[in-house]
Order: sequence, then structure tokens, then C-alpha cells
Amino acid sequence: MADLFPLIDKLATEGRLSHGEYVTLINERTPEAAAYLGERAVAVRKAVYGNTVYIRGLIEVSNICKNDCLYCGIRVGNPHCDRYRLTEEDILSSCAEGYVLGFRTFVLQGGEDGHFTDQRLTSLLRAIKAAHPDCAVTLSLGERSRESYHTLFEAGADRYLLRHETATRSHYEKLHPANLSFDNRMSCLRDLREIGYQVGCGFMVGSPYQTAKDIARDLEFIGEFKPDMCGIGPFIPHKESVFADFPAGTVELTCYLLSIIRLIHPPVLLPATTALGTIHPEGRELGILSGANVVMPNLSPPSVRKKYMLYNDKVSDGAESAQSKAELQRRMATIGYEVVTARGDVKK
Ligand code: SAH
Repeated sequence: MADLFPLIDKLATEGRLSHGEYVTLINERTPEAAAYLGERAVAVRKAVYGNTVYIRGLIEVSNICKNDCLYCGIRVGNPHCDRYRLTEEDILSSCAEGYVLGFRTFVLQGGEDGHFTDQRLTSLLRAIKAAHPDCAVTLSLGERSRESYHTLFEAGADRYLLRHETATRSHYEKLHPANLSFDNRMSCLRDLREIGYQVGCGFMVGSPYQTAKDIARDLEFIGEFKPDMCGIGPFIPHKESVFADFPAGTVELTCYLLSIIRLIHPPVLLPATTALGTIHPEGRELGILSGANVVMPNLSPPSVRKKYMLYNDKVSDGAESAQSKAELQRRMATIGYEVVTARGDVKK
């Protein structure tokens, strides 16, 4: 068995390992190594962000999607998905409610729904920014043209989340239908960066066919791209998806990777994701204790929350709900962290 402590020290001081070293760190992990890695990651996180936790109000604007990603519950090929789309008014009133609760970032996420043209999104972004000039708006609406990303940035969008899903081309092709391309996903990320967005990439932990080498490639990609944000959460099967019978990813590996990512890129905005909160009742706390510094409670109108079902049993109530911010605050305080009211931009 390899002694991982020197590798962890090297990662903490140099911010990178070789491909082979990442594979070793993943394959030979032990609870002791995970605890030490977590300690180093938390120390780095505290040096950059103290004990603060940034919150984002997540508004799931539409579950209508033209894509057929094999893992996803809202894929176009799922005939049992009960489809909805929020109106501009719905979205503005969610933002207004979130503002009162103390949210200063709104994340608009959805399927690739053709209704959301540049024109409609421009009007929406201008309205949000006019009502809440002190807030950041993050978009997570999938792949669009460079011109579209540019137009939305000019209209006021500050950040864009587009998980790369996997940095290994052959793995990407196993998770997506043939009309979705690895090259396009990566070129979208580069366009977003060049336009001036704060950009988020990310991947699922334990997705079907994922190997330690694939994860090592993801970590190398994160080290090269240096995203402002990075969303990782366990893969969770959806009963009506192609991958219904694959096992879910684990809390343990997700937390281990959160710690590694913090050490690779100390300023990264790293959420303890909804998927982590779904597979474990204390998933968010475990994520924060591994080096994450962001939580994204659900701010969608309650009537649609159960419909944005990316995977089985996705949580949307309790501390996952924006309306339960007090509970989230209490839970974070219990582990020594403080939820703050702030835009929470990346520290450069
Ligand atoms: N259409 C947007 C938003 C996608 S949903 C886009 O393309 O970016 C946000 C993320 O949920 C996805 O990027 C994916 O990584 C994750 N996701 C989808 N299905 C999942 C599943 N079954 N388990 C865990 N995460 C999933």
C-alpha cells in the first residue's frame, strides 16, 4: 500500500500531481488519507474564504430539453417527465423572494429549451439586474453559440456554469448521444472564459464507465483550465434513464475529490451540491468539511420543484429549500461555518 501522505503534501504545496500520481491517490485512498487530505483542504479554504459559506438561489427555469443525455431524468427521450417552464414573472418573483431571504446570487438553470431565446433572456436579465443591481446572475442553460453567450454577458449575466461532464473524449461519448460533441462542450467553456464570465465546469462522481484514469484527467483539466467555479456531485441513477440500473457514486469519493480540487485551485468556488445532499442527510456538511465553500438552495417555485427531477429522489425541501435558510444557517453554524449575505465572487 502506498503511503499517500507525501503525495498529499506535494499536492498541497505544488497544486498539481502527475496523471499517475492522481490515479494512485484515487485508487489507494484510505480513511486516514482522506482525513489528512480534508485537513489540508480546509486549511487552504480558510486561508482564502475564512469560515464563510456563500449561498446561491437556484431557480430551475425549465425542464424542457432538446438533448438526450443518457444519465439525465429530464432528457427529451423521457416521455414520463412532466414538463414545465417558468414565466419571466415567475422568475422575477423568485428573485424578489430570494433577495428578502438574503440571496445575492441567482442561478438560472434549465434544460436546453428553445423558448429561452437571446431576446427573451436579455429582457429577463435586464429586469433582474434593474430590480437587484447588487446581485450576481449565473446562467446554466447548456450549450449556446459564442454570439449568444456574448449577448447574454452584455445583458448582465456574470457567471456561467457548464459542467464539462468528463474530460475524456471516449467517456464523454458513452454518456451522450452522437449529436452531442466533446469538442463543442470544451469550446463553449473556452468561449465563456474569453467573453469574461466567471466560468464553472464540473463532473459527476461515479458516472457509468468512469475509471480512476478518467477522474485523473478531470483533475488535470481543472488544473489547466482553473475554473472560477467547479460543480461535482455523485451520479445518481434516474429510474427512467438509460442508466437506471447503474450504481450511484459515493459521498466518500465525492468528498475526497472536493478536497483534491480545493488543493489544485485554492480560490475555486466549490459547492456542496444538491446531489451530495440527496445521497446523504448530512451531505452538505460533509462537503463543506472537505473544502467546499458554496451551497445552492432551491429557490424555484415550490409547485415545480418535484418536476426538475434530474435523478431519483432529488431533494428540494428541508435545508435544501431557500425558504429554510435559517435551518441551513443553523446546520452550518453547528460545524463552525457562517452563511453570509454576499455576491460571493471568486477571489482572484
Ligand atoms: N442543461 C444544462 C444544465 C444541466 S443540469 C447543462 O447542460 O449544463 C446540471 C447538471 O446536473 C448536469 O451538468 C449534470 O452533471 C448533473 N446531472 C444530470 N443528471 C444527473 C444524474 N443522474 N445524477 C447526478 N447528476 C446529474
